[in-house]
Amino acid sequence: MGAGTTLAHALTAARASGVGRLDAQLMLTHLLQQPRSWLIAHDDAVLSDVQASQYTQWLQRRRTGEPLAYLLGQIEFCGLVLQVGPQVLIPRPETELLIDWGLQVLAAGFASTRTPSVVDLGCGSGAIALAIRHRCPAATVTAVDASAAALEITRRNACALGLPITLASGDWWSAVARQRFHLAVSNPPYVAPGDAHLAALHHEPRSALVADDQGLADLHRLIDGAPASLHPGGWLLLEHGHDQGAAVRLRLQQAGFSEVATRCDLAGLERCTGGRCC
Ligand code: GLN
Repeated sequence: MGAGTTLAHALTAARASGVGRLDAQLMLTHLLQQPRSWLIAHDDAVLSDVQASQYTQWLQRRRTGEPLAYLLGQIEFCGLVLQVGPQVLIPRPETELLIDWGLQVLAAGFASTRTPSVVDLGCGSGAIALAIRHRCPAATVTAVDASAAALEITRRNACALGLPITLASGDWWSAVARQRFHLAVSNPPYVAPGDAHLAALHHEPRSALVADDQGLADLHRLIDGAPASLHPGGWLLLEHGHDQGAAVRLRLQQAGFSEVATRCDLAGLERCTGGRCC
């Protein structure tokens, strides 16, 4: 592809490279800064040389399995456009379940305050922290990550979206020692080290995906540290793997949590478990 490449040519080239039509259209909407409806109505529009060469490069990288979000450098999540890069996990639609649950907890209110404090542990791109801050402006939100690169991406997203949050660097609860929160949320690494589906995720940071003890090590750390960092009546909500619900419920009960419950994602799989600190 080069000078004179039309959108129709570009879509044919995508098909020939085995890249899905939707992915190709999203690349073109990004390059041309036009909505998909415009692309469909203008299939004779011509790409500039620079656009054609960027598109060709993206098709090659997509064909080898690189996620579209990393190619475009952004993804839409909970109605927010977030910048992402290979330093952070790509936010998944199923994580919206955790956010909805968190927002329900916040909407139910806390007797002691009108400005609840929320912490997102292992914030990555900032997806969860920013979505909660966006939908619940009364909350003060802290985003924690041990990765400086992740915190920088969260900072840039917060800035670009005009959503003020506090950043804290460090390992899980140690980053916010001596603070207490009304709500803690986390989508920690929970994939077991030998899990077969890691092969398909090799573009994403292993540190955001994999945890020891069959994927439970970080979930356990988060639960064990929570009672000292939550206000009485505060909630801890955790995303986990489809087969980890029972283990997470048990650990929460052992740590003294009440109202322990699990919610399923749209596929009917156990996806989030949480409880209330006594
Ligand atoms: N949900 C991711 C997956 O595709 C894993 C994310 C995580 O470990 N937190 O398996």
